Amino acid sequence: MFQSLSDRLSGVLDKLTRRGALTESDVVEAMREVRRALLEADVALDVVKDFTEKVKAKAVGAEVLRSVTPGQMVVKIVNDELVAMLGSDAQPIDLHAAPPVGILMVGLQGSGKTTTTAKIAYRLTNRDRKKVLMASLDTRRPAAQEQLRVLGEQTSVATLPIVAGQTPLQIARRAEDAAKLGGFDVIIYDTAGRVTVDEELMDEVRDVKAAIHPHETLLVADSLTGQDAVNTAKAFDGRIGVTGIVLTRADGDGRGGAALSMRAVTGKPIKLIGVGEKWDALEDFHPGRIASRILGMGDVVSLVEKAAQTIDVEKATKIAEKMKKGSFDLEDLSEQLKQMQKLGGMGGVLGMLPGVAKIKGQINEAGLDKSLVHQRAIISSMTPKERRNPKILDAKRKRRIAAGSGTKPEDINKLIKMHRQMADMMKTMGRNGGMLNKFLGRT
Ligand code: GDP
Repeated sequence: MFQSLSDRLSGVLDKLTRRGALTESDVVEAMREVRRALLEADVALDVVKDFTEKVKAKAVGAEVLRSVTPGQMVVKIVNDELVAMLGSDAQPIDLHAAPPVGILMVGLQGSGKTTTTAKIAYRLTNRDRKKVLMASLDTRRPAAQEQLRVLGEQTSVATLPIVAGQTPLQIARRAEDAAKLGGFDVIIYDTAGRVTVDEELMDEVRDVKAAIHPHETLLVADSLTGQDAVNTAKAFDGRIGVTGIVLTRADGDGRGGAALSMRAVTGKPIKLIGVGEKWDALEDFHPGRIASRILGMGDVVSLVEKAAQTIDVEKATKIAEKMKKGSFDLEDLSEQLKQMQKLGGMGGVLGMLPGVAKIKGQINEAGLDKSLVHQRAIISSMTPKERRNPKILDAKRKRRIAAGSGTKPEDINKLIKMHRQMADMMKTMGRNGGMLNKFLGRT
């Protein structure tokens, strides 16, 4: 699903994350490529413009978190805007109404309306344990009512018995009566489709809708038709009002233009997507998950989210200042170790970095995590004076600290050595401003 779009976008973003520092023109260039990719995917022009402008404005003004790179930050911004464009929260079918709850299915011929009717009925029956009745109001296509009856048999869902010669309105009323008598929870009405949007079709659907007051009116549109699907949805919504959209054939759609434009252009949520011909090939539309599928950058996004949740910006700034001055003490080291632990230990930190996942097996994570815990225990067994000035740590003090932290004096020596190396490295970087900024992921 949406594979070609996904390949393009993840290619652009992957390039960004592999850089330590970014300039504004890097971001502008990346957005140009994102824009091209979205247009090729048949996303509506206004939607593309709006999207890239928002990302650019946010990326340029963003405060980059210290534990991530600017590129990773931009990926997060692109992801968040994509989620917003797709509609933010999932909006499943709403059944909160007095039974029988009516769902009216509308759309063009061949969009997958009848198949989707059966898929929804199948899911409500088997997953949600609802008693569902399907009724075909399609009196135009001779075989339409029979087609739904057969689908009902195949999915073991009840269908309204066929009575020849009735109008759509008469069938709808009969379905309502039958559902009330039979104690059904839900009625799904499948309506007639046309090859294109025309007045007669719209009038017919509007009359039915006015008579039955469905709780949901779902427009079924074919994902493969891109902007045509969006225009169809707009036309139906303008004429009869829809509550949501079902996008079918997403399984065969490499571009995703309809999915990406639908919400922004019509203002209506995509509630479900069809992902195959089988009865269970129907999924709730989760903007977050879809964005993650399209960008293929879920790991980077969760890294930035975790960093934003756990890294205390003020503390990090203070530590960075101390690094610059070369006065990074053991208190600061302990704080850094704490942040690493919050990020899920070494395994968590390493696993979230792109590329590292591959070599993760070769790194002894358990050992690293254990030493994180030990190192923090050692530091917390020291007096504040010792933490500020490790030079005063003589053999006697080391023995006391080892006993207090359940470690050995050698462990304390190792920690002091590590701290000294880090402090030296930071001092060198502090003298060389450019390198420090690079280390902090700043331009
Ligand atoms: P209607 O005229 O709108 O009622 O369309 P149908 O329900 O008869 O569907 C037309 C064709 O599209 C059928 O062959 C369905 O199997 C197929 N179809 C419907 N939804 C999907 C989907 O999500 N994925 C795929 N691959 N095929 C679908």
